[in-house]
Amino acid sequence: MEDYDVIIIGAGPAGLTAGIYAGREDLKALIIDKGIKGGNVNMAPVIGNFPGYKSITGLELLNNIGKQAEKYINIQEYEKIVEIQKNTNKITLTTNKNNYRTKSVIICSGTTYRKLGVPGEDNYIGKGISYCSICDGMLFKGREVLVIGGGNSAISHALHLKDIGVNVKLVHRRDELRAQKYLQDKIEEEKIPIIWNTVVKEIKGDIFLKSVILQNRETNIEEEMEISGLFLAVGEKPNSDIATGIGVNIDEMGYIITDKNQKTNIKNVYAAGDITGGVKQLVVACGEGAVAAVNVYEELKK
Ligand code: NAP
Repeated sequence: MEDYDVIIIGAGPAGLTAGIYAGREDLKALIIDKGIKGGNVNMAPVIGNFPGYKSITGLELLNNIGKQAEKYINIQEYEKIVEIQKNTNKITLTTNKNNYRTKSVIICSGTTYRKLGVPGEDNYIGKGISYCSICDGMLFKGREVLVIGGGNSAISHALHLKDIGVNVKLVHRRDELRAQKYLQDKIEEEKIPIIWNTVVKEIKGDIFLKSVILQNRETNIEEEMEISGLFLAVGEKPNSDIATGIGVNIDEMGYIITDKNQKTNIKNVYAAGDITGGVKQLVVACGEGAVAAVNVYEELKK
């Protein structure tokens, strides 16, 4: 069994930044991620609010942060935690590949994209349904596509799809967008059509997606619309199972509760990034990762 000062769970912006700080404090530290480094931000078409970059793709920015982190800390990708146990002084982690013992953990497990939960959805993920316009957008150039949602992600995807020549429309369940004002202004400027007060009732096709049944929530009228692609951006749910497994407190939405030092209610267990809810912005996730790592260092040197 390998022993560590701190193990960071998740290699998104919070986890990578925590790794940079932990590594530079000379802690024996490791990052473990069930997928590839970068997290959900890899899917962001354009980032214009991270200090130092006027405009950069999520993939490029997280690749840069990942490379910087690798100078200081090992990152284990595609390693899934299957069990976590907390004793008085040690935390043990069992993954699908190894066992680890650590004095502390920083949970940066982020969120998972929410599904619509309508008939047909599971049949067409990757066969017309996508969560990532930057990964899949080009497949739909010149074709009809809907983006579902009214938040920052939905608008960002719609703008990117329009930009690369996809015939995109936005479908939102209310008559007002949730996205930040600058994105709302941009979608209006780009003249992307918005289908208001409308939800998806069913997704249909053969091997690939071919159409959706849309329902207007005011009139209840249903209409079948032929499309080639459907980009879902209907929010996220926190990946907090790892935390609750060792008694970490979460709020009513499932986000981990921390104090201003990113400490949870369990000693030597910290959390950072989107898993803590609140303002889900990249710069905040990075900041929380740094705060958590600095506090781990302070605690361990006592
Ligand atoms: P979000 O802000 O939670 O928005 C989700 C959208 O999906 C909402 O408009 C919601 O409608 C809609 N929705 C939820 N369930 C639905 C359903 N079953 N059917 C149809 N529509 C449904 O999620 P997000 O846009 O993915 O953003 C997640 C977080 O990351 C947010 O905190 C956001 O600020 C942040 N983020 C920031 C940026 C940026 O700064 N540029 C970019 C991306 C994400 P209602 O509005 O009616 O609730």
